[in-house]
Amino acid sequence: MKKQFAIMGLGGFGEAVGVELVRLGHEVLGVDSDETKANQLADRLTQVVIADATDEASLKELKLERFDAVLVAIGENIEASILCTMHLESLKAREVWVKAITPTHHKIVEKLGAERIFHPEYEMGLRVAQTMAHPNMLDYLALGDNYFVIEVRPGEVLDDRPFSELKIDPEKIRLLAIKHGNSVTFEPAPDYRLRRNDHLVLLGDEKALREFTSSL
Ligand code: ADP
Repeated sequence: MKKQFAIMGLGGFGEAVGVELVRLGHEVLGVDSDETKANQLADRLTQVVIADATDEASLKELKLERFDAVLVAIGENIEASILCTMHLESLKAREVWVKAITPTHHKIVEKLGAERIFHPEYEMGLRVAQTMAHPNMLDYLALGDNYFVIEVRPGEVLDDRPFSELKIDPEKIRLLAIKHGNSVTFEPAPDYRLRRNDHLVLLGDEKALREFTSSL
């Protein structure tokens, strides 16, 4: 279903989120005080407005309460981000999501009522560290409580061997799927023979996954 989103601040982060939402079929209103920035994105977002997102009267005109969610993506200016979040809450925006820069910034916008708070640089840093430490892990999703879904590349030693030889303990790890190029085999049968470039998609806790992947 098509949703409506608004993004305050169209720097690198706001732009990436906005353009991807449009690609996914949603409507996106982008707001930036910088005319050049706003004009650059005029063709790629549904609507672009040049406005100061810390000015309550300007925000009120945008009728942001009709949007499914509003993302505050104002970059380094923490004061502006906090002020904008405060106005969005008093204008009854349905969901306010904020990009935070520091722990204090996080705490303040949380107190103001932000539903989701992101730390893109920190979160990306963790992802890069994980993939540097585990080079055969291509991607992962943290589910909380130390559970993860990971995608791993097992290496050529497993080429053309049935996956039952992998000795996955079903009490600890579930093989959800095998990805091969663009196709996916869900819950493969034990006699499925692994092929070169197959990727395993596994669910389990961190310790079990770490032990299993280091044996590959
Ligand atoms: P990042 O690249 O991390 O997303 P930037 O600082 O480059 O962060 O981008 C923040 C964007 O927010 C810029 O395009 C800037 O013009 C915009 N911005 C900053 N303050 C305001 C404001 N008060 N109202 C609207 N847009 C703002």
